[in-house]
Amino acid sequence: MTISEQLFEQAKTVIPGGVNSPVRAFRAVGGHPLFIKSAKGPYIYDEDDRQYIELINSWGPMVLGHAFEPVEKAVRDAIGHSFSFGAPTRKEVEMAELIVSMVPSVEKVRMVNSGTEATMAAIRVARGFTGRDKIIKFEGCYHGHGDSFLIAAGSGAMTMGTPDSPGVTKATALDTLTAPYNDLAAVEALIENNTNQIAALILEPVVGNMGCVLPEPGFLEGLRELCTKHEIVLIFDEVMTGFRLAPGGAQQRFGITPDLTTMGKIIGGGMPVGAYGGRADIMNMVSPAGPVYQAGTLSGNPIAMSAGLAMLHYLNDHPEVYTRLDEIGNKLATGFQASLTKLGLPYTINQIGSMFTQFMTDKTVTDFETAKTCDVPRFGRYFHAMLKRGVYLAPSQFESLFVSVALTDELIEQVIQANEESLIEAAEM
Ligand code: PMP
Repeated sequence: MTISEQLFEQAKTVIPGGVNSPVRAFRAVGGHPLFIKSAKGPYIYDEDDRQYIELINSWGPMVLGHAFEPVEKAVRDAIGHSFSFGAPTRKEVEMAELIVSMVPSVEKVRMVNSGTEATMAAIRVARGFTGRDKIIKFEGCYHGHGDSFLIAAGSGAMTMGTPDSPGVTKATALDTLTAPYNDLAAVEALIENNTNQIAALILEPVVGNMGCVLPEPGFLEGLRELCTKHEIVLIFDEVMTGFRLAPGGAQQRFGITPDLTTMGKIIGGGMPVGAYGGRADIMNMVSPAGPVYQAGTLSGNPIAMSAGLAMLHYLNDHPEVYTRLDEIGNKLATGFQASLTKLGLPYTINQIGSMFTQFMTDKTVTDFETAKTCDVPRFGRYFHAMLKRGVYLAPSQFESLFVSVALTDELIEQVIQANEESLIEAAEM
């Protein structure tokens, strides 16, 4: 038995399913999770002292590689001043100013502690602002585990086969309307059938949580027009795309201005941080400026702000990071595609910049229905074949790759080679 196996057995007796977040349990791919001891740059090390090339990177935040020196130093410097005050700090002002300067649509911003908190708060504010109750989300998009979002949810909910969770009341579920991603006509029909009842429309402007799915040309523009026309608050959930697809996220890359934006992952440099922000008139609804209540004992935590600030300053000052992220994404996609062609496998690759999924299906993947056509058992075999070759991937077909700039060209070649061998291994029964 490996140390990871032993720890997992122990964990299962005291933690539900042995993990603190479902997808970590490797349920969809079989086997046991690796228990992690440390990570540095492009590598992660498990309790059995095995080394892997990191392609999860904490599901996104470690975009500059693990234990990146400027972030590590900022945290070390902050620690000597105590860990939490529950009172305003200079760093929070600096953080808010930096976000406002980087993310095009954000005029005011509130810090929270996770992506889930950010999306829950954003729809509450949208409801308070519009005086309406219903929201529209897309099938297969994941916006954290808030009750309103566990309807046709992606990511772990999709991976675990529980896109609609027990424990969400019928009343809550009724207020969440869903449409297929990339289907403007379906959104238009929902709006027509619920006149003046829809507070917000929330989406991942590029989806990462059913695997990587791109918005078709005109989709984001069409949503923007519909929301403006019907006075619906358009929320871009940029927890995954923010500070990844561009310094100002997907909204900058596509040139579309949402009303509110939710952020997480990279914004905290690996610490538990989220944020929501947007139009000043909407954000002024938030307590104590306005009547919509939202609070947090640890919000704007000084250690978390120090990590996040070091991360965002670095990204803001080094635009070459984005050139490199795109280059890495392009190299992987090209290499993977070459292997697919060589092996005669008809799989679909979706990629934009460093967001990338190799879907094990011959269908074009544009939404939840087409994503679900993937051969999940085959992905499980592929995942373990990659792990055996020292590549640590998200243990689900329905996730995007999470690369960091620590990935050298040599490591990219190793990943491409491992992918080709693993595709062959997964195809053999
Ligand atoms: N929104 C999106 C788009 C996400 O990808 C995630 C997490 N993967 C969340 C919200 C929830 O963030 P957290 O896990 O930090 O609560």
